[in-house]
Amino acid sequence: MYMKFIFVVIDVLAIVTLYLTYKASKRITKSYGWWLGTTLFVGVIAIFTNILLALSVSPQFADVAFCLYFSAIDWVLYFLVGFCLDYTEHRRALDILKYPAAVIIGLDTLSILLNPVFGHAFTVYSITDSSGVVFYQTGFLLPYYIHLAIDYISVAVAFFFIIFRIVRSYSFYRVKYVIILSVLLLVVLLNVAYMMFSLPLDASVIFYAIAGTLIYFSIQTFVPQSLMTSSIGRVVDDMNEGLILFDIQDNCIYANAFARKRFDIDPDNFDLTCEPLAGIIRSLNKKGLSSGKETYCRADGDEKSHYIMRYNLLNDTKNRRIGSYFLIEDNTEQVHYLDEISAARDAANEASSAKSTFLAHMSHEIRTPLNSVIGMNEMILRTTDDPALREYAENIKISGETLLGLISDILDFSKIEARKVDVVLSGYAPHDLLRDMLIHFEQMADAKDLYIRTTCDEEIPSMLSCDRRLLAQIMTNIISNAVKYTKEGGISINMSGKTSADDTYDLTVSVSDTGLGIAKDDIPYLFDAFKRVNEKENASIQGTGLGLAITHELVTLLGGTIDVVSEVGKGSTFTVVIPQKIVDAKSSGPFVKHVPTTKDEYRESFRAPDAHILVVDDSSMNLKVVKALLRKTQIAIDTADGGMQAVELCRENKYDLIFLDHRMPDPDGIATFHMIRSGGMNTGVPVIMLTANVVSGAEEEYIRIGFAGYLSKPIRGRDLEDTVRQYLPAEKII
Ligand code: ADP
Repeated sequence: MYMKFIFVVIDVLAIVTLYLTYKASKRITKSYGWWLGTTLFVGVIAIFTNILLALSVSPQFADVAFCLYFSAIDWVLYFLVGFCLDYTEHRRALDILKYPAAVIIGLDTLSILLNPVFGHAFTVYSITDSSGVVFYQTGFLLPYYIHLAIDYISVAVAFFFIIFRIVRSYSFYRVKYVIILSVLLLVVLLNVAYMMFSLPLDASVIFYAIAGTLIYFSIQTFVPQSLMTSSIGRVVDDMNEGLILFDIQDNCIYANAFARKRFDIDPDNFDLTCEPLAGIIRSLNKKGLSSGKETYCRADGDEKSHYIMRYNLLNDTKNRRIGSYFLIEDNTEQVHYLDEISAARDAANEASSAKSTFLAHMSHEIRTPLNSVIGMNEMILRTTDDPALREYAENIKISGETLLGLISDILDFSKIEARKVDVVLSGYAPHDLLRDMLIHFEQMADAKDLYIRTTCDEEIPSMLSCDRRLLAQIMTNIISNAVKYTKEGGISINMSGKTSADDTYDLTVSVSDTGLGIAKDDIPYLFDAFKRVNEKENASIQGTGLGLAITHELVTLLGGTIDVVSEVGKGSTFTVVIPQKIVDAKSSGPFVKHVPTTKDEYRESFRAPDAHILVVDDSSMNLKVVKALLRKTQIAIDTADGGMQAVELCRENKYDLIFLDHRMPDPDGIATFHMIRSGGMNTGVPVIMLTANVVSGAEEEYIRIGFAGYLSKPIRGRDLEDTVRQYLPAEKII
């Protein structure tokens, strides 16, 4: 009785398990899911009939129960074989076999079910065990053996197809089928073992139930996981990066192909004390790091290999350390690439410095003769009253100034390009700046019969802080363009602004003209370097296309904005807004326009008959210019046409001031300066560099060497006099 009870309990548990697995199998969307699910469902029925068997109370009852049980096993096997065929991708065989097999199994089932009527397959008899419990068992006749043979043939068919698939598939995928084969084999072996005990109750069906459940979990969990593990293994081994894993004792447990090959690692004899990894960890520890990234370079023959080595600790989900790993990335290509880039950058820098040198030379070469032209011309203007001659000289003056402007533009642009423009902030009066502009441009406008009108906000603070030189350059560029590109009418300049923050004022200067105007399509290109728009119309107007590019860069440098509104034939308005700090918030009041004298007649600003100065230049023309420009000051001037002569003169005389040209045949201005200074001659006498080299940084360099100042060529009479006056001893100036 006791045994029957245990048997029923196990059967019930098997039913529950099988039913739950059957439910779960519905999640399998592949066609073999249906076969497996149906196997499990029929398995539930089979186990139920097994319970009926155990609970049989009469031979007739047992006879019917056996019939149902044997039939159910028929169908369990049918669907199980169907599953095996489908799962092992023998769909064609399945399609061919499923109907004939169903007919054979059906006939067998029918024969078994008719046994109670004909008694042709098996007989039922009872045995009583020692405790008096009655069990029903079967005695077999030929049709039953046919039934048994059909069942075993079914199992054999399943085995055949699985083994076939195992043989035919890649080793990588064999695991999929080997698992199913193992499960089936296990179940058959368990069943045989069970039969050897010759217990009074048949439990075969339970093993089939176990098989179904195991298969389900295998295909749903174990197979994907084992495929994933082996795939990841392959991927990691194939990776173009190295991976080395260490256990908690720092012994190597895995090194992928990259790491094994590049670092000659034998995982069985490798741990974290081996180089180069130990060195990497040491240098990380020195930085106080337990993990991190280091670069590593190794010579492989003539070549150098560069690696990025990443060391990380490996923790479990509870953050307990379980090991560590190294990730190694070959960085050689990037390093070479960076080397190439930095070589290219060096070459570019060299080219850029070659450009600067070229510009310095060019500026010098052009400015030097220009110096003579403008200087000599000024002498003509100062000395002649002949109107025809004056007119020629005026024309030379204008062309000379234009040429000078052009050179300055090119230099300015190269300075901006090389980011060598320094912003020097200082306090200035906006009204003064506007007045300077007017003085400068009124004559130019007059010459073209153009008016210049100004409106100026009275509320503008009387002192703002900005780089006055750059601001003046911005305004000069815009106003000169307005004058240049206007044929009739005139120019209106408006200066206004508003306080944007506590001590910041947005100064707005807008310049409107009644000139040619700019086509809408051209406006986007207006600020591009070397771009001149409306070329046809402007062909007769001189320009480089650099002015607005420079202006735009300067405005940006000062943190401001520039805008253009223009209409072809009507005129243009350029508006510049530049934020500036307020130095003195007192309002400027009404703008007083300075009326310039129409005839700019020269008058010397001082005389110094007791002063004695030396001028050194290899160009005799330039020496003449300086002498002529200073003639009215009555200064005694010695001239030298080279460094050696200058040194001689300095040995014999004590001067009040020395002008030294930079570029002269050996020795040049700087060498001459050093010779004079090191010879202890004329100590304390200011030496002014006289040069056409006006590229960025030149002035600072001269001051650093020891020059008192710097005067750029072409020399203007006014600048020269100002410099002389600044450096001559005060008592000698009248
Ligand atoms: P450029 O040396 O040619 O004057 P800019 O950069 O100063 O170079 O100006 C670029 C172009 O923009 C000029 O060639 C001209 O066609 C156009 N332009 C600039 N200002 C004006 C203006 N006020 N009116 C009409 N066209 C202008």
